[in-house]
Amino acid sequence: MSRHRLEVYLDKVFDFSQRRAALPEGRKYPRIPWSTIFDAVFLGAACQFPSLHQLEAECGTGVLRTRIGPLSEDAMAYALERQSAAPLLDLHCEVARQLKRNGVLHSSWARGLVVVAVDGIEICSSFVRCCPGCLERRVHHKVDEELREDIQYYHRISVVSVVSSAFPVPLGLRFQARDEDEVACSLALLEELSQRLGRRFFDLLVADALYLRTPFVKALEAQGWDWVINLKDNQPELLAEAQRTTDGEAHYQQSDSQQQLRLWYQPQLYWAAADRSVQVLRSERVQSQRRVQLRPPDSPKPQGKETIEVESTNFYACHFELGNVSPLFLYQLGRSRWIIDTEVFQTLTTDSHLKKPSVHHDRQQAFLVLSMIRLLAYTLTLVFYHRQVRSHERTPDRGFRRLAQILAYLFLAPRLDSS
Ligand SMILES: [Zn+2]
Repeated sequence: MSRHRLEVYLDKVFDFSQRRAALPEGRKYPRIPWSTIFDAVFLGAACQFPSLHQLEAECGTGVLRTRIGPLSEDAMAYALERQSAAPLLDLHCEVARQLKRNGVLHSSWARGLVVVAVDGIEICSSFVRCCPGCLERRVHHKVDEELREDIQYYHRISVVSVVSSAFPVPLGLRFQARDEDEVACSLALLEELSQRLGRRFFDLLVADALYLRTPFVKALEAQGWDWVINLKDNQPELLAEAQRTTDGEAHYQQSDSQQQLRLWYQPQLYWAAADRSVQVLRSERVQSQRRVQLRPPDSPKPQGKETIEVESTNFYACHFELGNVSPLFLYQLGRSRWIIDTEVFQTLTTDSHLKKPSVHHDRQQAFLVLSMIRLLAYTLTLVFYHRQVRSHERTPDRGFRRLAQILAYLFLAPRLDSS
């Protein structure tokens, strides 16, 4: 049988079949090899099937019937539950190392630095379904018009992703444990990545204001990483000092038809809570945006568009030797954090169904392993999309979501793309 174009590419670039075959078997007496289950879950995630239930149907009578063949939802869940997470993170890191060797992490703007963002996201919540690893909270909600207080179960994960490259490259995820908060979970993930990839795999980390805490930034600096973190009112004294000392004439100004940007840079500001100095950047941006004019329904004038000005001010605390480089670079670093929210989390939840538990109830490990395979599939299909599809296509960009449909279709017509 001819092989699928995605799989041929992954083998050529990552030796993926070999690496996948080296994953340890978690079950004692497997009837179906783990490599088959892994392929089904991985390819199902690449085709963006939302659940193991649909995957069972696709393996039985759908697009994966030739490539995988009949495979039950229960068999997949049983195998996932018995698989350990560490070899999957190893595999994801091997992929990341290869991407770096191949120059995929190269940045057009980050001055030779590899910049990563870290952030947390809630991936499922339920009043009914839970597993031993679920986090819990009491919430008020309406059931049949009646206000009730119930325990809600949920999970939070931390994700680290390269954000300086032409497209984001996630490096790994970790489930938040019951006895830790998001920052502790993210720090544990960063340490796991550092052990596998080495400290020098990336240079600088960006994060939101929640992460601006003494133990976290100390841990980053102990690893040799620079950082740019949003400064908000969870560090009230530092914010007040930053506001007070970044007044007067701006150190940098830029203006075009879309926006006016002004930056103030303070190279040394004492951060009392941490008993140390940091650099601080203040940005003020006025953007021109077109929006539909709101008119009363009986207005004689037709609806038109008007231009409004939207103003935003941000502060960033930084640990980075700027030297002769313009403070604009710190602003670019700070802004790059948005990529993990607006691209990585957005696509992972809408297209890659990361929030859909699929296999979760009483199966903590299966849900973790499924989520890790989904993240790996997202990373590798994104690479395939940008390096193979988008760069080779003459037709207009058809988008990442459309790619999943094409990938699924190619399983039905394997001979068309044999190579
Ligand atoms: Zn759970």
